[in-house]
Amino acid sequence: MGLKVALMTRHHAALICEEARNLLMDAGFEIISNDTGRILNREEQKELIEDAYAIIAGTEKYDADILSVCRNLKVVTRFGVGTDNFDLDAMKKMGVQVGVIANHNAVAEFALTLILASMKNLTRYDAIVREGKWGRFPMRELSQKTVGIVGFGRIGRRLAELLAGFDVEILAYDPYMNAAAAAERKVASVSLDELLVRSDVISLHLPSTAETHHMINAKTIDKMKDGAYLINTSRGSLVDENALCEALVAGKLSGAGLDVYEKEPVTKENPLFSQENDVLAPHVSALSYETNYNGGIICAKSIIQVRDGGKPLYPLW
Ligand code: NAD
Repeated sequence: MGLKVALMTRHHAALICEEARNLLMDAGFEIISNDTGRILNREEQKELIEDAYAIIAGTEKYDADILSVCRNLKVVTRFGVGTDNFDLDAMKKMGVQVGVIANHNAVAEFALTLILASMKNLTRYDAIVREGKWGRFPMRELSQKTVGIVGFGRIGRRLAELLAGFDVEILAYDPYMNAAAAAERKVASVSLDELLVRSDVISLHLPSTAETHHMINAKTIDKMKDGAYLINTSRGSLVDENALCEALVAGKLSGAGLDVYEKEPVTKENPLFSQENDVLAPHVSALSYETNYNGGIICAKSIIQVRDGGKPLYPLW
């Protein structure tokens, strides 16, 4: 029996490509997987990971208690990039290496889609036409506007590249700003306040932490331009949804494009559900065939590299 790789992801389980599975099996690993189609409960999760050398993780939690059952764990690769479900301190203490995949193009393309869908009233026109009405009302153009990117990491930078053809001014705020990356993409590095005040569209691309919880709230929305648009493909916890909803109802904000929510899956109880000027998606920004394929390969190669004394392809440390 080879070293075990626990494939924990829920809906992606079947999507980890054949080539990635073959890479692992040819390298002598045994794959054990969550075939339930749902997130495992804690006991099921513990059972699957206790002997694993590597975990390919989804959005299920890895706290110190769950990790305490692991006897052989050396590497965890997240089939995604958000690691807010990981106790990273516990993993570090255990000497476990942690890697993520590259999904920045998929997410940046989806953020751009939400920007355009919001400004172009796309979902509202679609609903009107299907209702047999011919309601025509104007939309906005992106060209000549100012786009503010909060968090200038992999996804924020890719979005700036995709926006390059739209004749927009791009501002970015990041407390750990890579000045060369900003300059290369003709992006002005500004304070969060300046970004809030000057942007017609604000797109969030930063992690969910205690510090970033509700960074978009009644106070910060108040600083935003009247009629601005908010796009969130990062994490629901970044936005106070009640404050956002009030701003959409009052017309302070023209629209919002959202892929993530404070509580997922989003249901009718969420006031954002009944708003007309928001575009809602079910946390799918990264869910492209291309990213699933490449993600599987990255996870497999990362695990093999760690076994051979190296590091994951996209290591956290
Ligand atoms: P990244 O680590 O490359 O970039 C994150 C950036 O945020 C970093 O440059 C960091 O310095 C910056 N940052 C940290 N704290 C900040 C703060 N207080 N204010 C502003 N910036 C701050 O990550 P990424 O790959 O660009 O991903 C960004 C986020 O997108 C992830 O954390 C994840 O939660 C989310 N995401 C969502 C989906 C989805 O399916 N909707 C998919 C992938 C990623």
